[in-house]
Amino acid sequence: MPRFTYKFGAGEADGRSDQALLLGGKGANLAEMASLGVPVPPGFTITTEVCAQYWETGALPEALRGQVTAALEWMGEAAGRRFGDPDDPLLVSVRSGAPVSMPGMMDTILDLGLDDRTVQGLARATGDPRFAYDCYRRFVAMYGEIVMGVKDEDDGGGEGPFERLLSAAKAAARVEDERELDADALRGLVGQFKAEIQRRTGRPFPDEPIDQLWGAIEAVFRSWENPRAEVYRRMHGIDRALGTAVTVQAMVFGNRGPDSCSGVCFTRNPATGEPGLYGELLWRAQGEDVVAGVRTPDPVASLGDRLPDVHAQLLDLCDRLEHHFGDMQDIEFTVEEGHLWMLQTRSGKRAGKAMVRVAVDLVTEGVLDRRGAIERIDPDKLGEVMHSTIDPTSRPTPLTKGLPASPGAAIGRVVFSANQAEEWVKRGETVILVRTETSPEDIHGMKVAAGIVTARGGMTSHAAVVARGMGRPCVTAATNLKVDHARERFTVGKATVAKGEVITLDGSTGEVFLGRATLVPASLSEEFQTLMGWIDEVRRLRVRTNADTPADARTARAFGAEGIGLCRTEHMFFAPERILAVREMILAADEAGRRAALDKILPMQRDDFLEIFRAMDGLPVTIRLLDPPLHEFLPQSGQEIADVARDLGRSADEVAGAVAALHEQNPMLGHRGCRLAMSYPEIYETQTRAIAEAALAALRAEVQVQPEIMIPFVSTPAELSLLRERVCAVFDGVMAEAGVELEYLVGTMIELPRACLVGDRIAEHADFFSFGTNDLTQTVWGLSRDDSGRFLPTYLDNGWLERDPFVALDRAGVGALIRIGVEKGRARKTKLKIGICGEHGGDPSSVEFCHVEGFDYVSCSPFRVPIARVAAARAALRGEARGK
Ligand code: PEP
Ligand code: MG
Repeated sequence: MPRFTYKFGAGEADGRSDQALLLGGKGANLAEMASLGVPVPPGFTITTEVCAQYWETGALPEALRGQVTAALEWMGEAAGRRFGDPDDPLLVSVRSGAPVSMPGMMDTILDLGLDDRTVQGLARATGDPRFAYDCYRRFVAMYGEIVMGVKDEDDGGGEGPFERLLSAAKAAARVEDERELDADALRGLVGQFKAEIQRRTGRPFPDEPIDQLWGAIEAVFRSWENPRAEVYRRMHGIDRALGTAVTVQAMVFGNRGPDSCSGVCFTRNPATGEPGLYGELLWRAQGEDVVAGVRTPDPVASLGDRLPDVHAQLLDLCDRLEHHFGDMQDIEFTVEEGHLWMLQTRSGKRAGKAMVRVAVDLVTEGVLDRRGAIERIDPDKLGEVMHSTIDPTSRPTPLTKGLPASPGAAIGRVVFSANQAEEWVKRGETVILVRTETSPEDIHGMKVAAGIVTARGGMTSHAAVVARGMGRPCVTAATNLKVDHARERFTVGKATVAKGEVITLDGSTGEVFLGRATLVPASLSEEFQTLMGWIDEVRRLRVRTNADTPADARTARAFGAEGIGLCRTEHMFFAPERILAVREMILAADEAGRRAALDKILPMQRDDFLEIFRAMDGLPVTIRLLDPPLHEFLPQSGQEIADVARDLGRSADEVAGAVAALHEQNPMLGHRGCRLAMSYPEIYETQTRAIAEAALAALRAEVQVQPEIMIPFVSTPAELSLLRERVCAVFDGVMAEAGVELEYLVGTMIELPRACLVGDRIAEHADFFSFGTNDLTQTVWGLSRDDSGRFLPTYLDNGWLERDPFVALDRAGVGALIRIGVEKGRARKTKLKIGICGEHGGDPSSVEFCHVEGFDYVSCSPFRVPIARVAAARAALRGEARGK
C-alpha cells in the first residue's frame, strides 16, 4: 500500500529535509527539525502525491483514511492528549506546504478539533474559559471562511462577515481590543458565527472533530488551484504538477496567557544581510495575528526582557538551524506559557544586497563553502545590487504594468519628447520619458531621462535594447497606456497623467506608479567584489559585453566584462549630429554621394573605435559592421527631410521621394545587414578602414588591440565569402601601408534560420560565429521584435507560453537551430569560436544553455555582465554535478 503520511515530533521523524518534493518544504523541514531534537509540536504530513490524486480523481484515496487515523493516534500519544477527547482535547493546525515556497497563497486552518463539548474540556483543562472560547471563535470563523466558503461576494478587502460580527461584539462590550472580550462574549460570537454559516451556506457547522479534519484536509488540497496560487505559480514558473502537501500538527498556543506569544524571525536582516536575529512577535496572539498585522508587534528582542531564558534558547536554535541548513532561515515560533516551540523554518527570502552579504558572511563564518555560496545566488536578483530599488514600505498608487525591459527604479516628471527631456533636465528636473515607442531620434532624451516608459514594444524593441545598454530603467508595452502627444498627457484607463506630473517606475517588475516612491540606492559592496572573485574561479564561459560607446565599455569592464562581443556601429550614429551623415549615406543618389557621406562618418568612427580599444586594452573587441533596419534611420519629419536635403544639395521633394522609394513593408526582413553592403560595398570598406586606422593609432599609443570584425545578417555563404574578401583587402592594405602586422578575426552573426542550417558552409569563411538571438528568435517564430509586446503578455498571463522567447532562449525551437549551427560550424572548423550577443546573453537560463552547448563566450549589456558571470558559474557547477 502506498505510504501517504509521514510523522514527525518527539525527537523522531519519518521524513527528511531533502524530501520537499514529497512532503512540501514545510513538512520536510519540520521532519528535519524533529530529527535534530528541535522542539516542534508533533504532527504528520500528507504527501503531495495525494494532492495529485485528488486533482486527478476528485477524491482522496481510500487508503488515506486508515493512515490518518493511525497518525492521529501516534500524535495524541506524543502530545499527551487525544484528538476529540471531550475532557482534554488535542487541537491541530492543518497547513499547506508546496515543494517551492508560495507564502500565503494557499489555505491554513488553526485550532481544529473544537466543538461544543471539547471546548468545555479545553476550558477545564486549562482553567481558562476565555482562552478556550477565543480559540473556538477563531476556529469557527476560519473554517467557515476557508472550508465552507463564507465570505462577501465582492471580497473588497474590507471587513468580512465574521469580522463585522466581531466588531459589533466589541462595540456592544465597549472595548477597542478583542483581547478584552470575555468568555461569554466570545461564546456568543461562536453562536453567531455558526448561525451565519448556516444562513449563508444552508449547511450546519460540522460538530465532529474528525469531520472537521477531513473537510480541512480537502480544502487545503483544493487551495492548490485557487486563483491567487495559480497567478503566483505562473509568475514564478512553478510547475502545477508539483502539488501541495498537507501538514497536520498539534496546536501550541501563543494566545494562552501573559507568557505566551507568536513570532516570526529571520536569522539575519533580510534587507541588508546584517547578522543578528531580525523579527517581531505579538504577546498573547496566534501566528496569523502577526501575519495579518492586526496589532503592532514588538521586536523579537523584547522576548529577552520578559523571558530571557526563552530568548537565549531561541537564539541558540536559530543559530543551529542556520548552520544545519547552511542558509539564512525564516522561522515561525510560538511561546506557550514560557515554553518555546518552533513551527516552521525555511530559507528566508531576501533582497539582492542581503543575498550577497549573507552568502559571503556564511563562507567567512565557516557555515558554507564557496560552491554552496554560489549555489545560493539568484543571478536575476543581482540586478538589484546594481540598480536602485523601490523601498517596499513606500506605497505609491499603481498605474499600470508592462514588460520589465531594463531593471532599476526611477522617479521623475513625465515628459513626452526627447527635446523636452533635455530642456527639463537642463533646468534641473529629473524626468521620465514616456513615448508610444522610441526611435533613434529619441536617444538624447533617453540618455538624460531617469527612466523610460513606452506604450508599445517588447523586450528587444529599440527602447528596451538601448535602455538596457545604458543601464536606464525602462518599462515597455505598458498595459492600456495611451500617449496623447498633442495634448501632452497619457491615460491608463480612467487615470490621466499630464506633463510634469511625477511617476515612479520599476524596470525590474514592469510596474509604473503615480507619485513618488522611496528609492533604495545601489551600492557595490566589498562582499560583492569578494563573491564575484569566487565566481570567476568556477566559470568556463567568458563574459563579454554589448557596448557601443567608450563610456559603456568602461562601465562594463568595471563590472568584469572580458571584451566586447557586440559593438553595434549603427548605434554610434544615434547622436543628432551623426544621424544626419548616416541619412545622407542611405539617401545618396549614387556611389559618389555615398562616399562623400562616408567620408564624414570615417573620422567619427575611427575616434570612437580608438576610445573603445583603449577602454578594452588587452581584450577582444567585436565590431559589427553596419546593420541599419532602414526604418530606424530614415528622416520622418519635414524638418529632418529639409536638413538632409540641404546637406545633400537636393530639394526636399527629391529627398522625400527617396525616402518613399526606400520604404519597406517589412524593414526588419528587408535591405539590412550585409545585404546593404552587397549593394553598396563602400559602406563596409569605409568602416573597416576606420577600424584598421583606429587599431594602428591604438598600437602607437601602446594599447593592445584584438579587433574582431563581424558581418551581420548573413544567410548565404556567398555573402560572407565576398564581404570577407573585401574587408580583409582593406584591413591588410592599411596594415601593409603602415608596415604593421596585427592579428584580427573576421566572423559572422548567425541570426537567420538558414545561416544555422548551412553553418558548415558559412564556417568556411568565418573565424567565429556570434548568435544574434534577437533576430533568430524573431525569424524562427515569425514574431516581430517590435510588435510582440501587444499580445505576448496575454500569452504569458494565460500560461499559453511559459516565458517570453525574447527574454529566455526558447531551447526547443531557437535552441534546436542553434545546436545545428554549432554542430555544423564546428564540424567544418573544430576551433570555431562561438558566442552569443542577442539579449539572451544576459539571461541566466540562456547562459546555461550556452554553457551546455560548448559556447566560448556570452555577450550582454554592461549591467548584466555580473549576472551572466554568476549564471556561467552556476551552469559550470551544475554541469560538474551532472558530469558534463
Ligand atoms: C540580434 O539580432 O540578436 C542582435 C544582437 O542584433 P540586433 O539586436 O542589433 O539586431
Ligand atoms: Mg540582429
